[in-house]
Amino acid sequence: MTNPVMPTYGRFDLAFERGEGVYLFTEDGTRYLDFCGGVAVTSLGHGHPKLVQAIQDQAAKLMHTSNLYRIPQQERLAQHLCDSTFADMAFFTNSGAEAMECSIKTARRYHFVNGQPDRYRIITMEGAFHGRTLAMIAAGGQEKHLEGFGPAVDGFDQVPFGDIDALQAAITDETAAILVEPVQGEGGVKAIPFDILEQMRTIADDNGLLLIFDEVQCGVGRTGKLFAHEWTSITPDIMAVAKGIGGGFPLGVCLTTAEAGKGMTAGTHGSTFGGNPLAAAAGNAVMDVIDDPDFLAHVEDMGGYLGQKLSAVIARHPDVVSGMRGVGLMRAIECVVTNLDLVNALTDQNMLTVGAGGNVVRLLPPLTVTQDEIDEAVAAIDAACTAIEEKG
Ligand SMILES: *Cc1c(COP(=O)(O)O)cnc(C)c1O
Repeated sequence: MTNPVMPTYGRFDLAFERGEGVYLFTEDGTRYLDFCGGVAVTSLGHGHPKLVQAIQDQAAKLMHTSNLYRIPQQERLAQHLCDSTFADMAFFTNSGAEAMECSIKTARRYHFVNGQPDRYRIITMEGAFHGRTLAMIAAGGQEKHLEGFGPAVDGFDQVPFGDIDALQAAITDETAAILVEPVQGEGGVKAIPFDILEQMRTIADDNGLLLIFDEVQCGVGRTGKLFAHEWTSITPDIMAVAKGIGGGFPLGVCLTTAEAGKGMTAGTHGSTFGGNPLAAAAGNAVMDVIDDPDFLAHVEDMGGYLGQKLSAVIARHPDVVSGMRGVGLMRAIECVVTNLDLVNALTDQNMLTVGAGGNVVRLLPPLTVTQDEIDEAVAAIDAACTAIEEKG
């Protein structure tokens, strides 16, 4: 059978029929341990009863009305996000790239309404990933994402990851904002040291720039805090969130302070689907579960446990793996072999993971993962490394 889907993805020849917690099942009933989590999306695991119920109830009542009208579910989610963060306002989207687009537009409009329309350039970090729209591939600055798509959208200046001197040097009269993932995801699960993030805040303030965080992957409980920047003493002016916030339902959000968002007046931005009643119901269900000190403590505990177990298993296979990095339940194994070889060997052990830049394999289990499930994952990693060693 030919596949009429545009072949833009390097897919595994695997399809799943159903999911339950940390497990996925193929049609023939084969069980896989899901430590890919739909790339940090299925934050509550598969089939979480509260999320399923919320979506079922809302789908039966009302799915969509349009942002022409008030959407109480969306207002509740916005209120919850603002109560729990630095933000005063939220704009809902269907994806991370769109949440990022809104973040950039918000920053540019801020300077525009301040009478400085020439301040539109954004400083980004090498290794960054912000999505696949035309503007976001320019923001990410990766040649493999830009190639063949015409002139890159203007307005992004990239500096080496975490390099404060280069950042200072890159600031001009046209700079509007600094954009950074507190923990790079696709770039290889690289956390920017807290003190560097804090210095970025100071530099932004000293130069009248806005600080934008892309927490599309590292946010919504992933690192053991509701948002990763909560490990530092500072907050951004604008933040993009997506992936985990819908628990599998497509949902993103751009959060901003009232000051940074003051240019986003009626008519400046919009989305047909963003934050519709169904999406917002999913977001509310996820936030109600995750934004709870006990739940976040569980993530931190399980993250610590995973880190501890991983170091032990990595030490046993120096010819295959060399170390690990990451925070909470956003972890990566540094590989000696090609990372795809380890991903494939793990798939042979019925465990799903995903590679990332810097030759690492990411582990992004649901935040509900238990100690026993982590033990199972670590045993699969051990077996996969042994299998690679035996093949030579
Ligand atoms: C996944 C991701 C995006 C893009 O999200 P999409 O939903 O694929 O558009 C943006 N930023 C970061 C940090 C991401 O991990």
